[in-house]
Amino acid sequence: MSPPPSRTALVTGAASGIGLAIARRLLRQGHRVLMVDRASTLAPAADALNAELDTLRAHAVGADLASAEGIAELVARVDAEHGGVDMLVNNAGTSRGRAGFDLDATTLDDWNTVIGVNLTAPFLLCKAVVPAMRGRGWGRIVNIASRAGRTGAITGGLQYAASKAGLIGMTRALALQCAPHAITANCVAPGWVETPMTSRVPPAAAAAALKSIPLGRAAQPDEIAAIVAFLCSDDGGYITGAVVDANGGSFMG
Ligand code: NAP
Repeated sequence: MSPPPSRTALVTGAASGIGLAIARRLLRQGHRVLMVDRASTLAPAADALNAELDTLRAHAVGADLASAEGIAELVARVDAEHGGVDMLVNNAGTSRGRAGFDLDATTLDDWNTVIGVNLTAPFLLCKAVVPAMRGRGWGRIVNIASRAGRTGAITGGLQYAASKAGLIGMTRALALQCAPHAITANCVAPGWVETPMTSRVPPAAAAAALKSIPLGRAAQPDEIAAIVAFLCSDDGGYITGAVVDANGGSFMG
């Protein structure tokens, strides 16, 4: 059997947590990975992955996904320097949520920031990369949603749940539009994953969330990355429009 082809993946939010684990998995599979993030730790993270895996296939591409201009610059750079992408993983996310039911405390700025990074940025990146995928007759899009987008959640706030539910709806519509071109579009909806994002949740809320998980533990980032890597592979080619729940049994669809 011949080895799977080496392709180019763009992973957002790749400087830490789940995105970093996805970048590592895709590099291990032999792909070139454009690691996109705004964090100052991005370049050291890409260097560390290259050193760990003895490769030069991890590329740090700094960008702020909160603005349409930042995304347009990113896309232009990716096209000019890397010749486009075969796989897009929209993983970057932000919450700005406060513990408790905080409708009264949520500002329009909170709402716009979270919808912008979690939903508008994936839309703009899909819009930018899908035409070339269509031309090649192959593509993979994986959007990282959340259990909060399936059930709502106390932590994270209204804007976070709305952005992730919106991402699921957008992904399903995109899957239908892209299916004739052998491009798949799927969501992974994690529950509680041990990352810098969850380390910022107040301890009492974190303890309550962990206690409610039937498997009795948080997920590790690599457990989410493994699902993404499968959805990006040729073997995952018959799955499209799906939401893969990875939440330790706390929501069963
Ligand atoms: P994380 O460790 O905080 O990583 C997210 C990365 O995205 C950070 O490096 C962050 O940079 C970057 N980012 C945020 N806003 C950005 C922007 N405007 N432009 C460019 N980069 C930006 O979070 P994580 O837990 O791995 O989360 C990854 C994804 O999984 C998110 O979409 C999240 O909603 C989702 N998720 C996480 C969990 C969980 O339990 N951890 C559960 C369900 C879903 P900064 O550090 O500079 O912000």
